[in-house]
Amino acid sequence: LSEKLQNTLGKLKGKGKVNEKDVKEAMREVRLALLEADVNYKVVKEFVNKVKERAIGEEVLESLTPGQQVIKIVRDELTELMGGEATELNFSDKPPTVIMLAGLQGTGKTTAAAKLANKFKKDNKHPLLVACDTQRPAAIKQLHVLGDQIEVPVFSMGDKQHPADIAKGAIEHAKKNQRDVVIVDTAGRLHVDEDLMTELKQVEEKISPHEILLVVDAMTGQDAVNVADRFNEDLALSGIIMTKLDGDTRGGAALSVKKVTGKPIKFIGTGEKVEELEVFHPDRLSSRILGMGDVMSLIEKAETSMDQQKAQELEKKIKSQTFTFEDFLEQLQQIKSMGPLDQIFDMIPGMSGNKKLKDMSLDEKELVKVEAIIQSMTKEERTYPEVINSSRKKRIAHGSGTRVQDVNKLLKQFEQMKKMMKQMGKMNKSGKKKKLPG
Ligand code: GDP
Ligand code: MG
Repeated sequence: LSEKLQNTLGKLKGKGKVNEKDVKEAMREVRLALLEADVNYKVVKEFVNKVKERAIGEEVLESLTPGQQVIKIVRDELTELMGGEATELNFSDKPPTVIMLAGLQGTGKTTAAAKLANKFKKDNKHPLLVACDTQRPAAIKQLHVLGDQIEVPVFSMGDKQHPADIAKGAIEHAKKNQRDVVIVDTAGRLHVDEDLMTELKQVEEKISPHEILLVVDAMTGQDAVNVADRFNEDLALSGIIMTKLDGDTRGGAALSVKKVTGKPIKFIGTGEKVEELEVFHPDRLSSRILGMGDVMSLIEKAETSMDQQKAQELEKKIKSQTFTFEDFLEQLQQIKSMGPLDQIFDMIPGMSGNKKLKDMSLDEKELVKVEAIIQSMTKEERTYPEVINSSRKKRIAHGSGTRVQDVNKLLKQFEQMKKMMKQMGKMNKSGKKKKLPG
């Protein structure tokens, strides 16, 4: 999905002016890309119409960078479609907070229960896991194993009691033992059936949970959305956990489930391990889908691959305006170790759409050239590039096996780079103040 949309919208990026025909054409492709990603067709239709309406408005067509604005509209609308802001859990003023999980068999309820418990524990809460799946023989054991692994107690009463009674008993137990969050794992079935719904409703009535989270499997695409719709009729769902959004899931379910059920995705599962649960941020997912950049992941990536101390030195240099070609060379080497440049630049907002900056997004082959040019400079030239006059340029070009134009281009890029790094420095700071994922 991501690639399709990026290609389509990429065509708009380069355009100085976008007319109605361009928008319509782009939207036709967006529509196809969404349908192919298994997004509900009604949702697609409404979405595309909304974007078209906004994009064809005068405000956009008269603007300086219409292409970017169209992309921004698509991004905003995707975010809106998925619920806008991240949605928090409701914690009760009177502990314990009771969270009930529901969903079909194999969607990842038991795993999600453990993942939530693990997360709460890290937040200094005291979770209690409750084994209410009395259907599958190994279900209780599975929860105990996970509980042991994350060192969270598990409450169970075997498989002879009714799940509603087990849940009730667990809440009593939690009160006596100062457990402040009770996570109730329930049974699933292969398909939605009356038997299952009755059982879950009985649990709901008996314990009145603060949160009922439906667990759906992203890999099942539109089926996940239909199932969610069905559960939503019988249970007072407060949100959704969408699992298995790792791998090559097409992601269509994440885009339409909020629209269809009215219930937000609160968490996503991105792997089998207990740590692989994330608070769902609609804006981040739409940015990622469109390749418009996720500042947070860029910063994380930069932080992990950049030596912390070197980064600080660099920041100082940038601030004191003593950033030289020597540093540039070192930076290039750092950047190379971060991964493909395109990917890095795409993560910087505004970068992927900004033509001027795009021009300087050196590709890997060009990097080799750049290194050669810098290596042909004297120490003085690297430190004070302003001394590089035309005869020096000729010498450098000759020494590096390039042309004077290449040297000129690099000098210009270096200036832009300095500017950009200043911007990045700013962004880094403001980005850090924001909440980190999880
Ligand atoms: P339940 O029947 O709903 O309780 O489902 P389980 O929690 O037992 O999970 C079923 C399978 O899905 C297990 O093999 C899990 O490891 C796997 N699983 C659960 N969540 C995720 C996820 O986010 N990503 C991936 N790749 N696998 C998951
Ligand atoms: Mg289970």
